[in-house]
Amino acid sequence: MHNKGIIDKALHFLVHNSFMFTVAIMGVVHLVLLAIMIIGGVRPLIFFNLLSVIVYIFCTILCKYELILPVYVSILLEVTTFTIFETYYLGWRCGPYCFMCAIVPIIIYFGCFLFKGNKRWIIVVSLVLHFSIYVALFLIFKDKMPVYVLSDALGGVLVVFSSFVAIFSVIFYNVIYIYSSESEKVNLEQRNQQLSVDAQFDALTNLLNRRGFLPMMETLMETEWTRHFCVAFCDIDNFKRINDSYGHDCGDEVLRHITKLIKNEMTGCPICRWGGEEMVILMKDYDLAVAREKMEYVRKCVETNPTVFYNKRISVTITIGLEENKDIYKTPEEVIKVADERMYYGKQHGKNIVIYKDEET
Ligand code: GH3
Ligand code: MG
Ligand code: MG
Repeated sequence: MHNKGIIDKALHFLVHNSFMFTVAIMGVVHLVLLAIMIIGGVRPLIFFNLLSVIVYIFCTILCKYELILPVYVSILLEVTTFTIFETYYLGWRCGPYCFMCAIVPIIIYFGCFLFKGNKRWIIVVSLVLHFSIYVALFLIFKDKMPVYVLSDALGGVLVVFSSFVAIFSVIFYNVIYIYSSESEKVNLEQRNQQLSVDAQFDALTNLLNRRGFLPMMETLMETEWTRHFCVAFCDIDNFKRINDSYGHDCGDEVLRHITKLIKNEMTGCPICRWGGEEMVILMKDYDLAVAREKMEYVRKCVETNPTVFYNKRISVTITIGLEENKDIYKTPEEVIKVADERMYYGKQHGKNIVIYKDEET
């Protein structure tokens, strides 16, 4: 578990610094080659490798400033020129072709970062050109005597090292490609899950919206032993006046404040922001009489706890319609509709009231 964390962190670091890492590795490769050339006394390649190391030091600076295109061009030109020179001076058999193989994943990886969509033809052209040079070098130098002949041991070291560089490059770019696409997939899945959760909540009040609330109520109604519940339909009285007098921001603050008050009183009850200033409260296992008492309490609580907005105390009231679930109701909307009608009756009869009976509607 702990190891997985370290490997993950290392891969994450490599993916996010892959260009810098590539350039640094290229520099190190040329330092090793420089040592081999010094031991072998291949003077032209000593100078070439020194130059290459300087090029890659310069490239790390470019990477820091995210100038990836000049780095890409530098790598392509440097590796191609170096391969030509190494083939000329040491011959095809000393393994210069390995470097041509090593940069194939780099051409693709950097190329895909730099060129998107239709511009990807540049990558294809680079690869074709690259392969043409490879074949040309092979045909020209396969039977030619090299200018310098390394000892068997040093030649062997050079071939093994060049092959290692080629294999390392293939493995490295595959690993970071797989890691980045997998972590992208995990991120997308997490974002999707978060989105589907967010889609069930109201952004202003953080209450459930209808999409989150109705399926929950439907599930309750489908099962015999969860059908016993009450529904309260709450509407803030004269809310439009708050907006008109104090502004929309103040209206929002009032909404948040009322939400907080109701949530505090109704812990464990799902609450839905049904519309603008309308909320529906679901009271599981509540009898109508108990629900009525509770709603009376909530109504008073709202009445006596004004919203404070920039040192102003803004008092509001709410009107509540209440209904109990019955066998005649088949869908959540049917229960809510009755509660809404009772609330509406309350609006027409003075507001700031809890209506819970049929006779009054
Ligand atoms: P009543 O007592 O009859 O319910 O009157 P009311 O003014 O509360 O009702 P009305 O339906 O006339 O107006 C509701 C207002 O609520 C209108 C709308 O601008 C406001 N509103 C709806 N959603 C929001 C919101 O998210 N923020 C704010 N600030 N206002 C909102
Ligand atoms: Mg209202
Ligand atoms: Mg309303």
